[in-house]
Amino acid sequence: MEDNRVIKTKDVNFFYGKFRALTDISMDFEKRRVTALIGPSGCGKSTLLRLLNRMNDLIDGTHVEGEVLFEGKNIYAPDVDPVEVRRRIGMVFQNPEDQIVATLIEEDTAFGPENLAVPLAEIRARVQSALETVKMEGKKDRPPHLLSAGQKQRVALAGVLAMQPECVIFDESTAMLDPRGRLDVMAEMQQLHERGITVLFITHFMEEAARANRVVALNQGNLVFDGTPKALFAD
Ligand code: ADP
Ligand code: MG
Repeated sequence: MEDNRVIKTKDVNFFYGKFRALTDISMDFEKRRVTALIGPSGCGKSTLLRLLNRMNDLIDGTHVEGEVLFEGKNIYAPDVDPVEVRRRIGMVFQNPEDQIVATLIEEDTAFGPENLAVPLAEIRARVQSALETVKMEGKKDRPPHLLSAGQKQRVALAGVLAMQPECVIFDESTAMLDPRGRLDVMAEMQQLHERGITVLFITHFMEEAARANRVVALNQGNLVFDGTPKALFAD
């Protein structure tokens, strides 16, 4: 039987220096599911999702106890390349300005695969496909700074998709958007889900959490709810 759980954490504690930001987190994320992560500001949501793709490694003085398994392999094992982990589990941040690096949309989308030394013809194909997915192919030769915040966020997503991730994490990626932009980004998540990509997202908006297959809630670094949106709202 195929194991449908793509990411598992086992007894994870996470520390910034001496401060414990996550306590005894053991959970599974199923393949091809959309999971929402909720909880008050400062409860550890970003820390938890950044633990899953080793983004937390980029911060000095952090320390992980326990295991994080991706496709059955501990991503914190010494022989694992964190850059490859971050390629396979991509991330879209709250502010697209933090993610957009180039002066033209097309160049921005090509940036990730170029750094992976992907052959040029394949880069072109990936850029085309990623921009089509986020419905920005018609604007590919424009500068990203002229776009709306929602469009910028879709360009940021295209850059992640060009790396061909198996999982995409959105860390409050709708927080800075107007209602229209938020709906667009939520629609993109749904589309990724339909294409077989595992989606994890952090949100403050209950109506967004309601659209997930599963909701996980944290409080002060502890897992306090894990179930369907329906069960959450009944609670
Ligand atoms: P959330 O995303 O739920 O708002 P975070 O994961 O960002 O919460 O933060 C969880 C806790 O870890 C908070 O108490 C926060 O102050 C602390 N924290 C976050 N980032 C750092 C850091 N780089 N250094 C030290 N403490 C941090
Ligand atoms: Mg956060």
